[in-house]
Amino acid sequence: MRDLTPPSDTHAAPAAQTDTVVMKFGGSSVADPDKIRHVARRLVEARERGARVVGTVSAMGHTTDTLLELAASVSPNPHPRELDMLLSTGERIACALVAMAIHDLGHEAVSFTGSQAGIITDPVHTKAKIREITPVRVLDALDRGKIVLVAGFQGFSRDTMDVTTLGRGGTDATAVALAAALGASCEIYSDVPGVFTADPRIVPDARKLPEISYEEMLEMAASGAKVLMLRAVELARGHSVPVHARSTFSDEEGTWVRDTAGMEQPIVSAVTHAEDEILFHLRGVPDRPGAAATIFDAVAAEHVNVDTILQNVVGNAAEVSFSVPEDDVRATRRALERAQETLGAFETEEISDLGKVSIVGAGMRSHPGVAARMFRTLADEGINIRLISTSPIKISCLISRAAVPAAVRALHAAFDLGATDTHRAGDSE
Ligand code: ASP
Ligand code: MG
Repeated sequence: MRDLTPPSDTHAAPAAQTDTVVMKFGGSSVADPDKIRHVARRLVEARERGARVVGTVSAMGHTTDTLLELAASVSPNPHPRELDMLLSTGERIACALVAMAIHDLGHEAVSFTGSQAGIITDPVHTKAKIREITPVRVLDALDRGKIVLVAGFQGFSRDTMDVTTLGRGGTDATAVALAAALGASCEIYSDVPGVFTADPRIVPDARKLPEISYEEMLEMAASGAKVLMLRAVELARGHSVPVHARSTFSDEEGTWVRDTAGMEQPIVSAVTHAEDEILFHLRGVPDRPGAAATIFDAVAAEHVNVDTILQNVVGNAAEVSFSVPEDDVRATRRALERAQETLGAFETEEISDLGKVSIVGAGMRSHPGVAARMFRTLADEGINIRLISTSPIKISCLISRAAVPAAVRALHAAFDLGATDTHRAGDSE
């Protein structure tokens, strides 16, 4: 994002002293009419406490998946522009319904599409990035005392004059960007009560974290935690927007994602996992300067998010392995075909029975031996490691997909992350 236009002078004056809050509700929170009415009540409660309220909602339930299936059943390779026209409707439906429910509660509300709300993106269909927000209509409606609903996950490109969508989970990005542009606080409501030390469906004694730093949350989102979209966390860090991730269905405190500088940093804060990684293994790549650049230029041109990369030389050719999310497989294949036009043919293999388990913690920077402990823990479980990648505060291992749950449980225990652990002060539960 280049610029998030702050509220303009013409609009800042009337209610500048009143706090603005952006409240985002995920798809499961608006999955049916009762839940939509519940979300409407939560927005109204915030308004009645005196806040200026902006709500942004995802599409109802599994609407986006259903629309994607519908597109695939009509066309094997749906045109990206039309896909965005289609997908953006899901959020518009949810938004309009919430506005109706708010009217029935005796409050004024108005729903906007992303483009009506001034969310300007780059022109990349299905993965657009927000460049700027010019929330003129949002501010005007807030000044009139209305609750404003903004359709999540979408924007508008000035270059192409087309509707764009922001990628899966994109309503989180809508919420954080709106909060940054409006100088508002940001609350992300979903069916989980916060960010946990591991997925509680796999680890029963996983703990909810009271707070977590932006950098740890970035690593967690990048390595499979689904609570917050990766790009939303990047936006939050870039614009210093504290984000409160919490439950739609209770009033309990959730997890604050914010600057936690000054706190003592845990060695390991969480164990994350992903089961949608596909490993591409390339053999017979020319061993010369520019080969990797050609391959990854082509992959980047397809807007594929590459995770782990490994290269080594065998004989007089290179072998390159890298992993991508399942959703990006087709784009990756296209990119590899293009790279071979320049580099000559090489062998490509796709390995799809892998998963990834990661440990994340800002304190590992200053504590040696964390990696060894992770590998030893996996070894004791009889789990073979296929590929390892690290950042200063994260260690990831690609392992067999079937072994992921056991690996997550073993690591959670090995690093004492469970609810019974006593030397981690500050837990609210
Ligand atoms: N509805 C979109 C999705 O399912 C965007 C979102 O939920 O934030 O990915
Ligand atoms: Mg969603």
